[in-house]
Amino acid sequence: MSFVKMAFEKKAKIIIDNLKKRNMEGYYCENSEQLLETLLPMIEEGSSIAWGGSESLKECGLMNALKEKGKYNLIDRSKAKTPEQDREVYLQSAGSDYYLMSTNAITLEGELVNIDGNGNRVACLIHGPKYVFLVVGMNKVVTDIAEGLTRTQNIASPPNTIRLNKKTPCAETGVCAGCLSPDCICSQVVITRRSRHEGRIKVFLVAENLGF
Ligand code: SF4
Repeated sequence: MSFVKMAFEKKAKIIIDNLKKRNMEGYYCENSEQLLETLLPMIEEGSSIAWGGSESLKECGLMNALKEKGKYNLIDRSKAKTPEQDREVYLQSAGSDYYLMSTNAITLEGELVNIDGNGNRVACLIHGPKYVFLVVGMNKVVTDIAEGLTRTQNIASPPNTIRLNKKTPCAETGVCAGCLSPDCICSQVVITRRSRHEGRIKVFLVAENLGF
């Protein structure tokens, strides 16, 4: 094991212990392969599964694995073509068995930091789906909430606005300008300090760079 991965493992242990205090579960995976081996058996066949827009979910191979297995009711937001269909998909997502997402940042203390434009992703994190599974590359670990917010708006949001073809200052310059533009993807700032429901939120820390 490389020295970097050895350090990741030790850091992940601190986070997992702190998640436990917050009524959330943490798992450490050495790579994406181990992530799939750990996570997939936790999802019952026939379950409904929704997900938030996330490069991490794609990069680790989870989305392909779910589609290939063909044993689930996948609630695919990309298939919604009208505002009415989009709302219908959101309502199905909020009532799903499993909601998959990453997080914009996670602190060593085990707090989740998320910023969202529309709010559907953070809404499902907060309440609705029976379980929320977060796939988190160790590149998203930060010291505290302040660093998490800085990371989100200066590292995660600029490539996200470019990916989503948004007209925001950060899409132009790569740096957050604290905008209030119509395309702003930073409408909702959510810090998850704890979960009221034991086992509902599970965080899978992966010793790889996933997403941004
Ligand atoms: S410029 Fe606007 S959209 Fe971009 S990170 Fe800052 S607040 Fe968010």
